[in-house]
This record gives sequence, structure tokens and C-alpha cells, in this order.
Amino acid sequence: MDLYHSVIGRAEELGGSSAPRRYPYDPSRAWEDTGAFELVMLRDAAFELGGGSKAAVNFTCVTTSPALVEKDEILLYGPDLGELKSDSDYVRITLLRVGDIESDDEDDTEQAFRAIQNMDFVKYRVFPKGFMIRTSSESNREQVRISKDAVRSGISFERIGDDFIRQYKQDPNVLAVKLIFITAPDADYAGAKKCARTAHDITMSLTKILEGMPTDCGSCSLKPICDEVEGMKELHFGKEKHTTE
Ligand code: SF4
Repeated sequence: MDLYHSVIGRAEELGGSSAPRRYPYDPSRAWEDTGAFELVMLRDAAFELGGGSKAAVNFTCVTTSPALVEKDEILLYGPDLGELKSDSDYVRITLLRVGDIESDDEDDTEQAFRAIQNMDFVKYRVFPKGFMIRTSSESNREQVRISKDAVRSGISFERIGDDFIRQYKQDPNVLAVKLIFITAPDADYAGAKKCARTAHDITMSLTKILEGMPTDCGSCSLKPICDEVEGMKELHFGKEKHTTE
């Protein structure tokens, strides 16, 4: 399962010149999750990630390679939540390792595909206290308003990451999660937006293939992404009888 490999390769180069801080996943340190959407009013906000004209990028990639996603961990490029004093550019990247979707077992394959379809929805089930997430899947934006109370109580990307990973790991197909947060001033935010668009297109194409879309490449609207991403056509060829003209 290497459809996303070119994007994953680029993802770790987006964070700027400094080495990332790394934290192992520890569910016992997860930031309190309220379990439902909680409004952070502007007057109670310390700052926003991706506020105003700042970058606010989010995307998710899937692999079966333990070399790319070895273990559950959180990486931070740039200042932490307690160190930021004003609105900041922001990227959150999720890299998921799943079981082998090219398995011969039909049920396993179907399940892994479903995991890919569901993965993008996890962000709608994470509600860290004082960390109000506003997303737009169309533009791959994820903007976050942080409350003053949360900053006073010691909120950090490590503890937010623990909350996210705990949610992702509720899906048994998800074997490991690498979560990357970027706030570094010298990060490549334009590159991150490009990666987000490609990852989104790959996921949309996979979803359509799974749903049994038409199989004529000549008239298929997904041809540009299939031409760009190695392995996409083979995946569809494996599922259907095809016309590749
Ligand atoms: S392989 Fe061809 S038909 Fe299938 S999704 Fe890609 S372009 Fe469309």
C-alpha cells in the first residue's frame, strides 16, 4: 500500500530547518476530551492556530510500511502551545499504518478500505478541552482556537496528540500513528497545502474506486490523480475489469 508514499516522503521535509521534538504516545497523558463540541469565545481565546491569513493545513496519509510509521509518536516542529504568544501558521499531518490492504482475504481488504474512508472523520470526534477545532474538508483547512484557560492549565501539542492518537487507535485496522504538528516560522506552508491537496485527491479516488465507479480511464474524472500517483490504476485494475484507453 504505497499510494501515499510520495506525499509521506515530502511530509517530513515540511517542518523547517530545526529538528522536531519527539514524544512517545502515552494515553494516560491525553489532554481532557469533552466528548462534544465546545465553543471557545473570542474574548476567552489566547490565540488561533491558522487564524486570520495564517496557513491552517491538515491532511492524512495511509501506509502499510513499518519503516515509514514505525510506532505511535508525536512530532513537533516549532513553538509549542505554551510558547506561542499570538496567531500562528499551523499544519497537522496524520500518518497511519494499517494492515495490508492488498491481502488476498476479501474481508480484510474491505475492512482496510473502510478504515481509510473513516480516517478523515476522526477529526470530528476529537474535542480537546479549550482547543476548538474548525475544519473544512473541501479546502483541507483545520483552524484551532485555544482558550486562555487551556494555556494556563498547561496544554501542549504532546497532550493534544495523545488525545488524537487514542481516537485513531479505536479502529483495529490502525496499527500505528505518527502525528506531526508544525508551527515553525520557516516551515514550507505552501508545500504543505500542495501535499494536502494530493492526499485528499488520493483518498477521494480510493473511496470512489471502492464504491464501484465506472472503469473507463479515458472518460474518468480521476485520471489526473491516477496518472500522478503510482499504484492507483493497479488498485482499480485489481478490483474491476477495465478499459485503459
Ligand atoms: S484507474 Fe482509470 S478508471 Fe480507475 S479510477 Fe483511475 S482513471 Fe479512473
